[in-house]
Amino acid sequence: MRELTLIHLYPDLMNLYGDRGNIVTLKRRCEWRGIQLNVVPVSLGDPFDADRADIVFIGGGQDYEQAILQDDALTKKRDDILRAVESDVVFLAICGGYQLLGSHYLTGEGKRIECLGALDVCTEAGRKRLIGNLIFDCPFLPEENRKVIGFENHSGMTFRGPSVNPLGRVLYGHGNTGSDGTEGALYRNVIGSYSHGSLLPKNPALADFLLERALLRRYPAGERLSPLPDELERKAREGLLKRFLHTS
Ligand code: GLN
Repeated sequence: MRELTLIHLYPDLMNLYGDRGNIVTLKRRCEWRGIQLNVVPVSLGDPFDADRADIVFIGGGQDYEQAILQDDALTKKRDDILRAVESDVVFLAICGGYQLLGSHYLTGEGKRIECLGALDVCTEAGRKRLIGNLIFDCPFLPEENRKVIGFENHSGMTFRGPSVNPLGRVLYGHGNTGSDGTEGALYRNVIGSYSHGSLLPKNPALADFLLERALLRRYPAGERLSPLPDELERKAREGLLKRFLHTS
């Protein structure tokens, strides 16, 4: 049986808006294909084992939690996380987790939170909170599933450096800055996004994209993922796209 290990980073601190649903989705989509997904929580004081990780998940958190874990992330985990990123471990980091992978976060009170520097992005709090449904076009997903649907709630505006591609182009909502038309970041196998929701239950193609990348890395000669029916997901997506983009 093929097996993957997902490290859930700071599950007790970075856990906004049901982000944990992303893990439930990955686990179920693995089980339906006879793949075992082991979920390992790693929090303050725990070692981060880069060799064990196939997928790393970090959910969203408020400025308060981000400040609490800053010291642990920088002193105990930073080097191993950077090594994992550069050796193509798959990452999904949402909102505060996405900001944590960047170089720093400047809060609304002018406090600078040093972050991991694993992604060439940085974040500054803006004056206005960016809240609401978010839809963006993700060019690397299959044509019929390129539109990714999420929900955002952040004051941080994230700016990308040249080595980082956007995850997608905003069709509805705000995304990285509210004005540059981009959402999220893609670097190697790392995805950062402002999309809570949870994100993956609404976007099974993105869940499979992450699983494919992780499987290919762990089992280079293994078979591709078998397709799943996703009938309910397709209907839910159709309804949401109709509602926000007025598609027929
Ligand atoms: N503290 C960050 C912000 O408001 C992240 C919030 C979140 O994860 N939803 O920008």
